Amino acid sequence: MEIKDHLLQGPKVKFQKTPNHSGEFAKGDLDTIVLHYTAGPLGPSLATLTNPRVKASAHLCVDRDGTVVQLAPFNIQTWHAGKSEWKGKVGLNKYSIGIEIVNDGPLTKSGNIYRAWYGASLIESDVIEATHRNESIPRYWHTYTTEQIEVVNEICQLLIDTYGITEIVGHEEIAPMRKSDPGPAFPMDRIRNKLLKGNRDEDEGLNDDLKNGRVLASSLNIREAPSPEAAKVAKSLTKNQKVKILEQKGEWFRVTTEVEGWVSAKYIGLE
Ligand SMILES: [Zn+2]
Repeated sequence: MEIKDHLLQGPKVKFQKTPNHSGEFAKGDLDTIVLHYTAGPLGPSLATLTNPRVKASAHLCVDRDGTVVQLAPFNIQTWHAGKSEWKGKVGLNKYSIGIEIVNDGPLTKSGNIYRAWYGASLIESDVIEATHRNESIPRYWHTYTTEQIEVVNEICQLLIDTYGITEIVGHEEIAPMRKSDPGPAFPMDRIRNKLLKGNRDEDEGLNDDLKNGRVLASSLNIREAPSPEAAKVAKSLTKNQKVKILEQKGEWFRVTTEVEGWVSAKYIGLE
């Protein structure tokens, strides 16, 4: 993929113009990417994001198979953030590119069936149980596909290179009282740590020599939240397994390997 004249180009990119937009970004103002989920499939989401009565839009919509629909050029302000605030800036539409990712969001379970808010049922392999960063109790969430995560990653890199983006945030972080997207199923911290390394260190309370670790115990539980009562994310980590440390809370590290979760910090050796 590449960006030409503020438009994404590539074999899996389409363009569908939205009437919902403001003018160009003020010079020097564009410095942020805001990630969202659509809370529904592509078709209805595009219908909403291009409906003049709804007054909502975004720059891009990324489908489950990695197909991207661009709704407005990147130099134009779209309407995805609403009432929002980040690092002293208020109303992030004026400063950000909005990327919607097709995902059903939180799910409810009855018996063995997981359901989205609009009634669709999901199979278990498309569901994770995880605790949202703004909540304390785990819920069920629709997973993102590998294609989506790879495409979003690539697009963010292109936008950083083209527009000098310095912040990648979730809607849930700039409007935490109202919004839950993209939610815990999206590897938000991993992506921004990788793409913006350095920029987030302050926020995560980490310095450089805290980033790589190794499991010291013969077996180490990895959990959804920094608590011994929190549910386990996957099977235990094994001795000498290498991890990346993303965040520290008291006696706990949030780490990533093939899986992401919280482990007791005392069983991790720093490298
Ligand atoms: Zn959103």
